[in-house]
Amino acid sequence: MGAYFSEIFLGLKSLVIGLIITFKEFFKPVVTVPYPFKTIKMSERYRGHIELIEDEEGNPKCISCGACQRACPSGSISLASKSVEYEAMVKGEMKTKKKKVLTKYNLNFTTCSLCGQCVENCNFGAITFSKDYNLASSRKEDFHFDLLKRLQERNS
Ligand code: SF4
Ligand code: SF4
Repeated sequence: MGAYFSEIFLGLKSLVIGLIITFKEFFKPVVTVPYPFKTIKMSERYRGHIELIEDEEGNPKCISCGACQRACPSGSISLASKSVEYEAMVKGEMKTKKKKVLTKYNLNFTTCSLCGQCVENCNFGAITFSKDYNLASSRKEDFHFDLLKRLQERNS
């Protein structure tokens, strides 16, 4: 009989302790957000998918050297470029020079492991990790990113 009442007492005691803890939580500051209605700013070290960085004129800083593509262990990067001529002043004379212009920079984010090799191997500071974490889709195609287009859309 004593054990019976002892068990009831212990049950009630743990219930009261639980309720006190729950009650205390009501007065603590809220640390969560009602995602997706509200989002938070990602920390500096957060790694989202890679994205192109622009120069002062809004063009990609990328010179199409291909180092990131070669460094990617997953084969997730695919890029293309074309050669264009431009006029430049060299030693007081206008000269026609050539440079490569990026025409395609695609990322297959379904195979990217966010290892960072591409960013580390870019000697021109032309790519970085985005802070984009708001990615959700049931379609694989939605994770094939046209990074050049995304850069142009950011600037428009
Ligand atoms: S390594 Fe940098 S500059 Fe070279 S292709 Fe990649 S992003 Fe462009
Ligand atoms: S983070 Fe790694 S896996 Fe992803 S694109 Fe860059 S090199 Fe490839």
